[in-house]
Amino acid sequence: MTDTQATTAPLARARIAVLGYGSQGRAHALNLKDSGLDVVVGLRPGGPSWNRAYVDGFAVAEPGEAVRGADLVAVLTPDMVQPDLYRHAIEANIKPGAALLFAHGFNIHFGQIKPRADIDVILVAPKGPGALVRREYEIGRGVPCLFAVHQDATGKAAEKAQSYAAGIGGARAMLIETDFKEETETDLFGEQAVLCGGATELVIKGFETLTEAGYRPEIAYYEVMHELKLIVDLFYEGGIKRMLEFVSETAQYGDYTRGPRVIDASTKERMKEVLKDIQDGTFAREWTAEYQAGLPNYKRFKQADLDHPIEKVGAALRARMPWLQGSKDPTPAAPAPAP
Ligand code: NAD
Ligand code: MG
Repeated sequence: MTDTQATTAPLARARIAVLGYGSQGRAHALNLKDSGLDVVVGLRPGGPSWNRAYVDGFAVAEPGEAVRGADLVAVLTPDMVQPDLYRHAIEANIKPGAALLFAHGFNIHFGQIKPRADIDVILVAPKGPGALVRREYEIGRGVPCLFAVHQDATGKAAEKAQSYAAGIGGARAMLIETDFKEETETDLFGEQAVLCGGATELVIKGFETLTEAGYRPEIAYYEVMHELKLIVDLFYEGGIKRMLEFVSETAQYGDYTRGPRVIDASTKERMKEVLKDIQDGTFAREWTAEYQAGLPNYKRFKQADLDHPIEKVGAALRARMPWLQGSKDPTPAAPAPAP
């Protein structure tokens, strides 16, 4: 852990190219600009984000052109398009001594991008979605960031990463130094075993257990999906201790005695297998091949999730929760293509 003394000063005279204007890209670009830094956004002409970045007040250019003048290039497109983007827009255009920055280490760690030797390669990963990175910045706070150095061509790579993290507001909270391997492998494990994969399966299996036993889907939905938010909010605010303070003694006794029957040592063994697939590159190879084949399995899996009965009952119940009606996607797509 480092203190939060990092400032934007090392990048004060730098031009920063932000490639991609989605969840992270828009938040980073706006925060860097509001921190007084010089930002150009690099996007495909006519792509969905071009108009949005333009309306937000940015100079927008094709990726290759944005890279050409830049001292720091932040690669904030989806991970699977980054290798192509590197080959076509970055490799020949990035200045010697410039920094190439990622928000997730996947392509560097798994060798999908082999960066030129004469540039710095760094990582700044906010521990939150782009909308939160922007919202916290606007109210004078920030989201904690991991930072890392993969390649230090100039001797200033770490300083540039910390300075960028300061520019997006992360230094107002906390900067934690890591390396590309640790960030990449723990990030993938978290989303696979616990957050996206684990939590979704836990909810779905709980819903199926109740509805197959004859309980009404509406009731099952409230018990296993809706109320999960209350528990997660308590974890987030104060860990397990705070959750235990807020649930009944009956709930606690059930937790202590039944929880370990559902998630047991065999589950942990399978978590270790999932981690091993990440560490030895099996997952990265599988996912890259799936992407290159046009996502046939991904599309099938996604449709199965969307067709699950919990989604139908959930949509009907959420329509009757007025406090949810205002909460649309915080970063909607641009309304019209570039002029
Ligand atoms: P996103 O899907 O929200 O946005 C991607 C952007 O890239 C869009 O503006 C899209 O139009 C643009 N784009 C797509 N293809 C392009 C191309 N060929 N050339 C130029 N632009 C193109 O992506 P995101 O979720 O912000 O992820 C960006 C990076 O941040 C990834 O490395 C991701 O792992 C990392 N990250 C994301 C989060 C998160 O919460 N979403 C958190 C930490 C790190
Ligand atoms: Mg993550």
